[in-house]
Amino acid sequence: LSPVPSDLEISRAQTPKAVDVLAKEIGLLADEIEIYGKSKAKVRLSLLERLKDQADGKYVLVAGITPTPLGEGKSTVTVGLVQALTAHLNINSFACLRQPSQGPTFGVKGGAAGGGYAQVIPMEEALYNRLVPSVNGVREFSSIQLARLKKLGINKTDPSALTEEEVSKFARLNIDPSTITWQRVLDTNDRFLRKMTIGQAPTEKGYSRQAQFDIAVASEIMAVLALTDSLADMKERLGRMVVASDKDGQPVTAEDLGVTGALTVLMKDAIKPNLMQTLEGTPVFVHAGPFANIAHGNSSVLADKIALKLVGQEGFVVTEAGFGADIGMEKFFNIKCRASGLVPNAVVLVATVRALKMHGGGPSVTAGVPLKREYTEENIQLVADGCCNLQKQIQIAQLFGVPVIVALNVFKTDTRAEIDLVCELAKRAGAFDAVPCYHWSIGGKGTVELARAVREAASKGSRFRFLYDVQLPIVEKIRTIAQAVYGAKDIELSPEAQSKIDRYTQQGFGNLPICMAKTHLSLSHQPDKKGVPRDFILPISDVRASIGAGFIYPLVGTMSTMPGLPTRPCFYDIDLDTETEQVKGLF
Ligand code: ADP
Repeated sequence: LSPVPSDLEISRAQTPKAVDVLAKEIGLLADEIEIYGKSKAKVRLSLLERLKDQADGKYVLVAGITPTPLGEGKSTVTVGLVQALTAHLNINSFACLRQPSQGPTFGVKGGAAGGGYAQVIPMEEALYNRLVPSVNGVREFSSIQLARLKKLGINKTDPSALTEEEVSKFARLNIDPSTITWQRVLDTNDRFLRKMTIGQAPTEKGYSRQAQFDIAVASEIMAVLALTDSLADMKERLGRMVVASDKDGQPVTAEDLGVTGALTVLMKDAIKPNLMQTLEGTPVFVHAGPFANIAHGNSSVLADKIALKLVGQEGFVVTEAGFGADIGMEKFFNIKCRASGLVPNAVVLVATVRALKMHGGGPSVTAGVPLKREYTEENIQLVADGCCNLQKQIQIAQLFGVPVIVALNVFKTDTRAEIDLVCELAKRAGAFDAVPCYHWSIGGKGTVELARAVREAASKGSRFRFLYDVQLPIVEKIRTIAQAVYGAKDIELSPEAQSKIDRYTQQGFGNLPICMAKTHLSLSHQPDKKGVPRDFILPISDVRASIGAGFIYPLVGTMSTMPGLPTRPCFYDIDLDTETEQVKGLF
């Protein structure tokens, strides 16, 4: 339709098939699903045992160039691509997406389940299910908050819920209270919780201390959920999480606190991927949503593994990585693929003319502010200059030996000459192919050319390789990423970063992969440096560890783990029609 209706209108105009019908269609047995409402179901992990001898399908990652703050369409391309593969090329396919956090859905962005004619439906259930308890089928977030917040009858399951007094009762652990790194979490932006004083009630006297809340997606438990591949593995990982150090500098874990079992109980349903569908009825897993900076920002290993079995050897699983390829894709390869053992067959790199113009020197792009003329009118020079970022991101993917297909997500203001130029320059930079995509305005049929290119690239066989050997010293691994991926001249460690590296190495954690916490708005550490910044020294201000999830995360500059809200958050538009029970005010 022209103009394209709102995401919500499009979602409402389509009646999703009942989830049990969808489950049957894709080969799930009745006792392998747990249905929540009409359009969502959790899938039991027993399926992996039943299909263990079935060969995996092809594994495709959707990543992107360095984005504007508006997002360049990775989620919509992921959905559009599976719609094209299934409905138009008749190939079994599955999309795996992260579950949107209430931070963006109530803050700036509104949606995060695709958009236009390439989205997950029903939209409000993918986005706001936590507000609708009767259909609360996608329960990771509540589980994670519970796991970290609730004071259960079964002792305290959450290390952060221990007061100082209780901590001192763990005297045999000799915990140094000043080293407690475990934070409480909440899935809502609240900047006033970035730093606070706890334990001020008279009953807690003498034990007040400064603490903070993180947003739920920043919880290590979320990263554990996204990287685990079985209940037993999740239990081990939860037990390994380090919450503090003892007075001799040795790590104190959740297992030391005696809470592993109770944490696992809280997470036992969250571990099952959530089945939903696209606008065109293609299956989608919406599962886990780790932060893309202090964590690895990818949907769950389990969703990918189950989907790869369900699509069969000739089928395709398309999974999305957060942020630009320098961050999300690098972590997908070096962290997620290392954890899962899965081998990717192709990368789809999403680009837009508007982001390329920004990299070519166009005016800054800000959410909520109308785009300047440079972005709404043809400007070949800005596009040509900005393609340096696309070329660099293609080269980064090639470091891993995986073929790259550039998906140019076309907006209505893009001109033929601009589109042709991007595709031409992408192919010259070594992309396997580069195609314009129109899924947002016309659905799967607008991405058929992309689907054909992906099918062809994936048939060539993968020469996938990791960027670094995990056995290298921590500093060498950080330097390799900084130089080979970001294009930095070198790195510079703060004294704090150096002493943390020494401590983690001495504690035996030196052989974990690295999860860089860097801005996604530039290849460098400075968000305003667009294109391909050169000759910069990457400052590492601190280094932290998520031992349960299984990575070391260096901080490049400061990273907020509790986002704030904009002046006018989008929740002001959200309402419920009490007659029809329909959610209003989404876009
Ligand atoms: P990302 O996953 O890269 O952050 P999304 O796929 O979520 O990006 O898209 C960001 C926003 O832009 C969404 O609201 C989406 O509906 C919108 N969008 C994406 N592609 C187009 C397009 N071609 N035309 C208009 N709007 C688009």
